Amino acid sequence: MMVPVRCFTCGSVVGEHWEAFTSRVEEGEDPAEVLDDLGVTRHCCRRMLVSHTDLVDVVAPYQ
Ligand SMILES: [Zn+2]
Repeated sequence: MMVPVRCFTCGSVVGEHWEAFTSRVEEGEDPAEVLDDLGVTRHCCRRMLVSHTDLVDVVAPYQ
């Protein structure tokens, strides 16, 4: 589905980094370096972006 706006563990806002993260990773940058550059340093917040699969466009027609 959509990327969560906040980290489930600490509540920090992570959704604002999603578009920058995906576009830079698709261009071939290392995900760890992108997250460092975006200022997402906690492991709990990093997993929110690294483990997310954007399925909203796949699921939306069936609702
Ligand atoms: Zn967090």
